[in-house]
Amino acid sequence: MKLHEYQARDLLAANGVATTRGRVASTPAEARAIAQELGGKVVVKAQIHAGGRGKGRLVAQSETAAMYRNLTTDPDNYSGKVKGDRIGGVRLADTVDEAEAAASAILGKHLVSIQTGPEGKLVKNVLVAEQTDIAKEYYLAAIIDGMQGSPLIMASAEGGQEIEVVAHNNPEAIVRLPVSAAAGYDPYVGRTLAARLGLAGDHADQFGKIVQGLYKTLLATDASLVEINPLALTEDGRVVAVDAKLTVDDNALFRHKDLEALRDKDEEDPLEIKAQELGVANFIKLEGNIGCVVNGAGLAMATMDTIKLAGGQPANFLDIGTVNDPQRVVSALSVILDDPSVKAILVNIFGGMARVDIIAQGVIDAHRQMKIDVPVVMRLIGTNLAEGEKLVEESGLPLIRANGLAEAAQKAVAAAGAR
Ligand code: GDP
Ligand code: MN
Repeated sequence: MKLHEYQARDLLAANGVATTRGRVASTPAEARAIAQELGGKVVVKAQIHAGGRGKGRLVAQSETAAMYRNLTTDPDNYSGKVKGDRIGGVRLADTVDEAEAAASAILGKHLVSIQTGPEGKLVKNVLVAEQTDIAKEYYLAAIIDGMQGSPLIMASAEGGQEIEVVAHNNPEAIVRLPVSAAAGYDPYVGRTLAARLGLAGDHADQFGKIVQGLYKTLLATDASLVEINPLALTEDGRVVAVDAKLTVDDNALFRHKDLEALRDKDEEDPLEIKAQELGVANFIKLEGNIGCVVNGAGLAMATMDTIKLAGGQPANFLDIGTVNDPQRVVSALSVILDDPSVKAILVNIFGGMARVDIIAQGVIDAHRQMKIDVPVVMRLIGTNLAEGEKLVEESGLPLIRANGLAEAAQKAVAAAGAR
């Protein structure tokens, strides 16, 4: 689960990271009032679940795809700027009037950045924060490194909007330091990183406190990523977080009711939300037109590969899990059928602990409970196959049967293509 910048910065601040003062606003008048409180010189920032806002552009919903094309093919002529005539989703305002005008230009529009995709994202809120005089921009992040099974701190003296370019062209410019979860945080980590980034004296001390706070935030929120980019060294010698990004590990959300309350469902895929609500945990929406119902994550991956091999595109990843409950199959099919791009469904079940007859019963129940107006291809094998076959035959439903995975994928692709 991703958080908005204004939520992430509050969590960082609560764990001891120096941030700028600021608050979120949903109307231009509120933005003006906050700017007034902060003394007038502020930065007004669109709050969406995507980065690249500074270089993004605000447009009407009907123009997002065209703007996305422009930004990706001709960034020099289209990228937004924080100040000047081509301003984007992050704007510097020097007076309360400018702050109000910036908020009114951002709110209610769609922000398109290279990270939003062609649909852009509707901006419902802006963060109004005190403006920082930035002398130098650093990059700082903490992640859970799955390969090492350990937290990892990453930092670079070349932070800011070009960090992806740095990561690609000059990866040595990003310093990586693992932190042993068992031993815990040691101030040595912050000191080492500061030295590698060329920070000394008081700057290094401030930086070390921020690294420690960042690490604390990672653990306290069960985040998979906490990122500060840029971490600014100000003209008056302060080290302060100017941006914040935080992703909570979904598998840990059950023990963070306070974080769950920060969820912004408008930013998430409606099909994935429905799947979660129905207890269909492992559903991920994709771009294709063949809906997949599979038991087991590995088999689900293999099913998607085989569909591609047969010349088709999966509409989703779905692992229904090892559950002997026909209702789970009904729920899964109801999520898939909500997707207007689905033109055929492939049910691929390898019965082990999960029984073929129960899955087959689920498909039959779904046909009785809902209108399924796309062809359903079924490949069943494993435990209680004979019982499952019998149920399918007796049901008289127009299910397309397939014997192997390759045959099932080909039949699904053909069925989808015929529509
Ligand atoms: P992002 O583009 O979505 O990553 O949004 P950021 O919050 O990182 O803002 C983009 C850029 O705007 C930063 O890299 C800074 O260069 C600039 N920026 C943001 N806030 C301030 C500020 O308070 N003062 C100055 N001078 N620049 C800022
Ligand atoms: Mn940023």
